[in-house]
Amino acid sequence: MRKFLLLAAVTSLTLLLGCGRSVIMETESEQYVQSELDKLAPVTLSVDMSSLSSQDSEVVKLLVEAAGQMDRIFLRQVYQKNIQIEKDLEKGNYEKYLELFKVMFGPWNRLDENHPFINAEPKPNGANFYPLDMSEAEFKEWVEAHPEEQQAFESNFTVIRRQNDGLTAIPYSQCYKEELDKAADLMRRAADLTRDESLAVFLRSRALSFETNDYYQSDMDWMDLNGDIEIVIGPYEVYEDNLFGYKAAFESFICLVDHKESDAFKELGSRMNELEQALPIPNSYKNFNRGAFSPIKVVDEIFTAGDTKAGVQTLAFNLPNDERVREAKGSKKVMLRNVMHAKFDKILLPISERVLRQDQVDRVSFDAYFRAILMHEVSHGLGPGRITIDGKETTVNRELKELYSTIEEAKADVLGIYTTQYLIDQGLLPRDLERTLYISNLGGMFRSIRFGLGEAHGGGVAIQLNYYMDKGAVGVDKDGRFFVNERRIKDAVRDLARELLVIEAKGDYREAKKLIDTFAVLRPPVQAALSNLKGIPIDIHPSYAVEKGMIN
Ligand code: ZN
Repeated sequence: MRKFLLLAAVTSLTLLLGCGRSVIMETESEQYVQSELDKLAPVTLSVDMSSLSSQDSEVVKLLVEAAGQMDRIFLRQVYQKNIQIEKDLEKGNYEKYLELFKVMFGPWNRLDENHPFINAEPKPNGANFYPLDMSEAEFKEWVEAHPEEQQAFESNFTVIRRQNDGLTAIPYSQCYKEELDKAADLMRRAADLTRDESLAVFLRSRALSFETNDYYQSDMDWMDLNGDIEIVIGPYEVYEDNLFGYKAAFESFICLVDHKESDAFKELGSRMNELEQALPIPNSYKNFNRGAFSPIKVVDEIFTAGDTKAGVQTLAFNLPNDERVREAKGSKKVMLRNVMHAKFDKILLPISERVLRQDQVDRVSFDAYFRAILMHEVSHGLGPGRITIDGKETTVNRELKELYSTIEEAKADVLGIYTTQYLIDQGLLPRDLERTLYISNLGGMFRSIRFGLGEAHGGGVAIQLNYYMDKGAVGVDKDGRFFVNERRIKDAVRDLARELLVIEAKGDYREAKKLIDTFAVLRPPVQAALSNLKGIPIDIHPSYAVEKGMIN
């Protein structure tokens, strides 16, 4: 039997006196673990799947099972000891630790700068993609001495291991063969069952990728999915590899497509020139030569696994990452509506109730919030991109340098509201959306700046909030609660849109700096409102109805 000894006096770490071969040497206090779990609002994500055929309901179950294998692989990718730690947690009396471990896919708290809550080792930069004791220099020297191995070493789909006295690259297809074989088998069974031809093609070609370690063709096939089920399964993002950013982590999304909403976006794609024409800037600054409009799909999430499930929950994704596929077929943006709705209910509404004036709180609505997010995405495709300065061809990004992402995110936010208003005025969206749009947007701002202004989104939001306050379009009452001044807000949105767009059109670094220095700051009333948000969750902790056998 293991004993658990709490040393209250010793910093925050507790010491485990164990026997046997447990790899758990020490743990953070239970209090810490509990308070970290409390920051994540539990929520069950369920999707109405009554529109699916009985075959496709069965297909979903098979795919969920296949996705489960991505959980197993990602757990191994994060840390060499993860599987053993998980076993030890399951055997011992560690319920809460196990819960947090499952959220974080390892013993480090991803929401607290990777603070370890089991053992005291720092999170390895190279995760388990490289030998723990391999330095950056050793990798580079090896590749230099063995140029014929460079491609394999830098591949997104290999792990690096020690072999004899040197290093070797092992393909994922070999390293994770057991899990990938199981997943491939389930995917092929699903392909045989479904009547969605595009899905069957993708599942078979992705299953083959698991064996060949070549993902090109299945990424191409993924772009052609056109049925009710939208699935991502395989190795994608490289953020877990903090050493080189080479190695892709396994993940999965299984979603149900809302065709009506997605088709509405296709329609919007044909209006991009009209929206550009409607921008509040001189015609010479408008940009009618943007590339193709990439499709947006609105979906509800049935299940996720692996990388995407670790830590903060994803609201949208844009894939694939393979540039060859992007050139041939573009990319696909997928918006996870029920995840957004859950965060809205558990985080944005409670925040709004604390910071907004009582008579306007009731108007904060998910539909308006969601509309603004969708239009934010569309708005990244509006306004200047390639520009000419003093006869020289350049881009907004190149000219604004490190300020670009803050300006661009602010632009997308402001234009998201501006274009929504335009579509309302054109009779393409319901008029009563106006009542909810601005106040819902204001509530959302406090969610975004809660974690500071260091990141582009937070900074961009502070610009808007302070600008609107200076224009009298957003006010604060004597109790410190915020409200929208309906007589002024539309003009303020238009004016800020113009300022941001002109900065981009001119590639005006100095004006961008001035705007950011003036407005991307935390002023006292906002600071006071933010300090009033303690106890409101910072994210959600989803479980999936489909896992509990509650399909339909
Ligand atoms: Zn954006």
